[in-house]
Amino acid sequence: MSETIIRKCALKPCFLYRNKLHVLLLVLVLFHISVGNATERDIVVDPENPRSFTTTTPPTSVDVGAATNHTDAAKKITRSLRLPNTTFPLHYHLHITTRIHREIFEFTGNMTIDIDIRETTNEIVLHAKNITVTAVTMLELHTNEKLLDLTYTYEKHGSYLIIHPIENYAAFEEGQRYRLEILYKGLLREDSFGIYWMTYSDDKNATVYVTATQFEPTSARLAFPCYDEPSFKANFTISLTHSNKYTAISNMMVRQTEPSIDANAALDGNSVDATMVTTTFHTTPPMSTYLVAFVISNFVYISEEYRGVQQRIFTSPRLADRGRKALKNAVRTVAMLEDFLGVDYPLAKLDHVALKNNFGAAMENWGLITYKEDNLAKPDDADMHKNLKDVITQNHEIAHQWFGNLVSPQWWTYAWLNEGFATYFGYLVTDLLYPEYKIMDFFLIDSAERAYSYNYMTVRPMTYYVENETAILSTFDIISYHRAACVIKMFHHAFNQKTFVHGISQYLRK
Ligand SMILES: [Zn+2]
Repeated sequence: MSETIIRKCALKPCFLYRNKLHVLLLVLVLFHISVGNATERDIVVDPENPRSFTTTTPPTSVDVGAATNHTDAAKKITRSLRLPNTTFPLHYHLHITTRIHREIFEFTGNMTIDIDIRETTNEIVLHAKNITVTAVTMLELHTNEKLLDLTYTYEKHGSYLIIHPIENYAAFEEGQRYRLEILYKGLLREDSFGIYWMTYSDDKNATVYVTATQFEPTSARLAFPCYDEPSFKANFTISLTHSNKYTAISNMMVRQTEPSIDANAALDGNSVDATMVTTTFHTTPPMSTYLVAFVISNFVYISEEYRGVQQRIFTSPRLADRGRKALKNAVRTVAMLEDFLGVDYPLAKLDHVALKNNFGAAMENWGLITYKEDNLAKPDDADMHKNLKDVITQNHEIAHQWFGNLVSPQWWTYAWLNEGFATYFGYLVTDLLYPEYKIMDFFLIDSAERAYSYNYMTVRPMTYYVENETAILSTFDIISYHRAACVIKMFHHAFNQKTFVHGISQYLRK
């Protein structure tokens, strides 16, 4: 036995111990700042220009429509901008009706939320913004009894819709469960927040409407009353009533499409509106509100199925053939990430939709990624540099299906946890799939150089507490995207491949 061999043997226990310690440390750190598993979150900012997020003006605050006897409680007290933990949503059934094909820009909503009371309280606090509530009813789920003495208040300061008894007492007891139904209406928006609309001209120069959503980080409340914080994960069953000339897609596959029942027409004995259909989707796994999404359009799609996951590229008809490269890349990337992470993509499908207007380059809604049109649907002779950037963007969004969607941060303090991992894995998986392009060299120029150049940013810690909507949006910056990606890359190299993958895999599985 040589001395060299003896020395190697002597070092081995320490080496193994250190590796196990690294895994333990990595997993503990990540678990501490993330929400269990089973949901997602995040916007897709332009990875090329994340600083643009910090200058984006969020939607202005407008009161939820309230009856004259409902006062603005913000005048009396200043609540925390964080939701109380006394109640928790279990299941949302969201039904939205839009008639934009008739150039009606108002939508109506029916939101039913099953709520678990975790601590006896006198109120249920939800987010709601720029919507007009028309009716609120509540049932105790066990007895099916309707609560008769309830009213609601809107608190503008936190965009809170507060359900409470008319006489103040602890009406909601720990352990009880309720079904809260809220009828409301709102306006489809022209900016890319909440539920918004856009148009394009078809081959006959006719105007075609497209309705889409952008909820990250705090715009789900523009579309429906909800617990609009990432840690309040719940199942969603979504129904959309829309023109029968259009189709609807959402996070999950369609469960059924049926003729629309028009409540007003029913009064005349004709309850079916022949021009409208209702599309209902399968119920989602538990997920954060900011990852809910849908698109209503007359788009066409190409598709491919691999390992039981159907992927589709949706475009307007005139761009029908321009998504083939993106489809091929998406199929390869999902398979590569499944193999690398040891965790299967959790849904049955993943759609990619090219929109004329989209906030940022793309948005990683779970199962339904939205893109700015020219980032997804391109001619075959498109510039190679642009193509590569678009591949990295798409792979960033696909990586989010695990980092952010499956496992989410408890609060936006840890926005870097989603963006840093998605940015790093966007590059990493692209490098693994297309080694000939030496993408990690591009990472050094595109990410690392900017991440450590103080010309590009206001310096702050990666983990950084924020509270109001403007501050939350501002965390989607170079620090969360690029500096965090550099730190994660450092972990990867310091821990070595086996330890890093083991730690990440455990993080995603817990
Ligand atoms: Zn991202």
